[in-house]
Amino acid sequence: RPRVLSGIQPTAESFHLGNYLGAIRQWVALQDDHDAFYFVPDLHAITVEHDPKTLAARTRNSVAQLLALGLDPDRCTIFVQSHVSEHTQLEWVLGCITGFGEASRMTQFKDKSARQGSDERVTVGLFTYPILQASDILLYQPERVPVGEDQRQHVELTRDLAQRFNSRFGKALTVPQPYILSGAAKIQDLQDPTAKMSKSASSPSGIVELLDDPKVSAKKIRSAVTDTEREIRFDPEAKPGVSNLLTIYSALTDRKISELEAEYAGKGYGDLKKDLADVVADFVDPLQERVRTYLDDPAELDRVLARGAARAREVAGATLAAVHEKIGFLPPT
Ligand code: ATP
Ligand code: MG
Repeated sequence: RPRVLSGIQPTAESFHLGNYLGAIRQWVALQDDHDAFYFVPDLHAITVEHDPKTLAARTRNSVAQLLALGLDPDRCTIFVQSHVSEHTQLEWVLGCITGFGEASRMTQFKDKSARQGSDERVTVGLFTYPILQASDILLYQPERVPVGEDQRQHVELTRDLAQRFNSRFGKALTVPQPYILSGAAKIQDLQDPTAKMSKSASSPSGIVELLDDPKVSAKKIRSAVTDTEREIRFDPEAKPGVSNLLTIYSALTDRKISELEAEYAGKGYGDLKKDLADVVADFVDPLQERVRTYLDDPAELDRVLARGAARAREVAGATLAAVHEKIGFLPPT
């Protein structure tokens, strides 16, 4: 079974529809025929300003959502990044073979740092984020890394670093393939449909959160930005707002977009929005019930995470030992 690895940051109270339709839904499917590792990167979550009082709860909440969405701890490894200290240890080594210019070219850093307002608020951690991400991946020697289009550049860097390490010091790292998943949808911000829906960058009204009251989501969908035409047609260039709504509708119902276009021929945007709100409610109602069940049993959640961290450390520890040996560190006795 090929190994895969992926993660989702605990940067909000709730995941959003983009996280599910663009990533987690595919992770659930991959469990069947892959040796899958999924983790909550809390180390990454502190690269931008965060609230220490809520981080642990958000991390738990993230794990509960992953379980409620269908990750099964008997069929995959689920863990929290900070529970496995090898992540930061390998990051140091990789940082020492990463060029400053190379790291400076990462577009996510440019985007996220621009949003911090002043240079003084941009942390070195945000700058080295992609190197930590490379470490997250390479520790587990996965053949494939399922990520959305927004992460492609970071996976490219990860491949470059693995190849560089192997050719300079001898082979210790698997060079992973990015795995842009078929059927993964890219979901846009409801208020700014030319930008992706994002936990940390979108305004609250632009995000459909999985844990929101469906009434709140219905209101957000009702106020989603569309265009001045009347026609319900899928055309992401000319009609990004309407196309985004169709994408979400299609992904949640497994119905073809062309089928939806036919069904809504002659109807208005209001009809589409109202029906989409119902579709979203049908999805989140039972989901929220399952999330509550997991959160109500913290001992069980802890057991899942302890088991996951133990399995993760086994694999990560072996990789780190090989890396340290190749790079020439004196082994501890
Ligand atoms: P942040 O704003 O904190 O970066 P995020 O919403 O971008 O949060 P991540 O934790 O960075 O979420 O990403 C988790 C997974 O969700 C990744 O695989 C990413 O590719 C995917 N993803 C994030 N946003 C979208 C989106 N709008 N559409 C589809 N997939 C997405
Ligand atoms: Mg992101």
